[in-house]
Amino acid sequence: MDSKIVRTRFAPSPTGYMHIGNLRTALFTYLIAKKNGGVFILRIEDTDQGRYVEGAVDIIYKTLRRAGLQWDEGPDIGGPVGPYIQSQRMGMFKKYAEQLVESGHAYYCFCDKDRLEEMRKIQQASGMPPKYDGHCRNLSKEEVAEKLAAGVPYVIRQKCPTEGTTTFHDEVFGDITVNNADLDDQILIKADGMPTYNFANVVDDHTMGITHVIRGNEYLSSTPKYTLLYEAFGWEIPTYIHVSPVMKNATEKLSKRNGDASFEDLAAKGYLDEAIVNYIALLGWAPKGENEVFTMDELIREFDVSGISKSPAIFDPLKLKAINGAYIRRLSPEKFVELATPYIRQTCKREDVDMALLGNLLQPRTEVFTEIPEQIDFIDALPDYDIAMYTHKKMKTNSETALAALKEILPALEAVEDWTMDNIHNALFALIERMGVKNGTILWPLRVAVSGKQFTPGGGIELSEILGKEETLARIRKGIEKLS
Ligand code: GLU
Repeated sequence: MDSKIVRTRFAPSPTGYMHIGNLRTALFTYLIAKKNGGVFILRIEDTDQGRYVEGAVDIIYKTLRRAGLQWDEGPDIGGPVGPYIQSQRMGMFKKYAEQLVESGHAYYCFCDKDRLEEMRKIQQASGMPPKYDGHCRNLSKEEVAEKLAAGVPYVIRQKCPTEGTTTFHDEVFGDITVNNADLDDQILIKADGMPTYNFANVVDDHTMGITHVIRGNEYLSSTPKYTLLYEAFGWEIPTYIHVSPVMKNATEKLSKRNGDASFEDLAAKGYLDEAIVNYIALLGWAPKGENEVFTMDELIREFDVSGISKSPAIFDPLKLKAINGAYIRRLSPEKFVELATPYIRQTCKREDVDMALLGNLLQPRTEVFTEIPEQIDFIDALPDYDIAMYTHKKMKTNSETALAALKEILPALEAVEDWTMDNIHNALFALIERMGVKNGTILWPLRVAVSGKQFTPGGGIELSEILGKEETLARIRKGIEKLS
């Protein structure tokens, strides 16, 4: 493989759920590949069969595709270093472990369960950290051969140095050094001949030519052992990029168990796919400039590992909303109406409503589509409102001034022949001038009369245009009646 080409991999375990933190790792992994003109690989790490969930791989495919993270090599599309499903690679690991035994970096361990349990009990009782005690580290070649010939079950363990330190470099966390004495001689090959996750991960990354390993920082503590394995094999160590978790708040991680939203949940809540992806990019990564709204192409250009933060990122629903609002404002008016229509139709079934006008009104005021039904629930039918709403301190209106205003507004609007926003506007402003009153004296009562609501998207003029002449006049008459 051309060593100059950047190859990254996203290596999810199929658990049946892709949380926001996972997707963020996938996104960073994708961006680092694409930014460097490299290759983004999908590898399914399903060796931990206990966690396997039917259909889980499909959820991974679907979520990544929907988020725009198309892989260049992967289980369903193949590639030069397949298979891309870890459980289908099982045959290759043992020979690598044996190679390490040969070179003195691993050893056969014949300790049985009882002995290991005994060992653990003693360690626990004396407050020592759980760690293999090295019982089989120094068996002679003959002893090993004898036991193997006798068919004694065994595992293969990594032979970590017991003195000195191991240092590795991480692009986010810098140089990390550990005391070798603290490292556990972890199992590489289990008694059933299968690799452990940690061993398979390293061998897979190497044999797949992975140059950059991007993953959650929960793997930082295993990385010294991974590094020792690379060194033992004489393999080039990949660039490590560990990312901190995405948190719900200062103490809790985002998780399915907490009922926190997945990508699909957010999409179902009315967020745009691109906006979710944009927001996820900002979880633990800070762009250089002020701008935070990026298309995928812009993200590929702007993304830089130096902007990744060591601190955990906190999922901020308000910021997601604001980013989504920015995306909504960027939509063409036609596209906005297309996407908003199912939400509009939840409360507004009137066929004669001009959707383009309604779209113009809603687009600048919508951050999430799910806000729409409530915003326009007065269009089909005027709610039974309280006349106290006519009293507005700032507008200096009360029920008396409102009644007087509506009585003037009615004929003024009756006289408007061509029912356009401009004409409605002109008629009302002529009235305001003639009466010598403040705008609010006329416009506030109109808004209340036509909507029956305190908060509406747009003011009385826009709402009147959308409601149509007949309905507007009927609602003004109703207001007069209520106030009289
Ligand atoms: N399969 C691991 C996970 O889902 C990924 C570990 C890695 O990227 O090295 O957490």
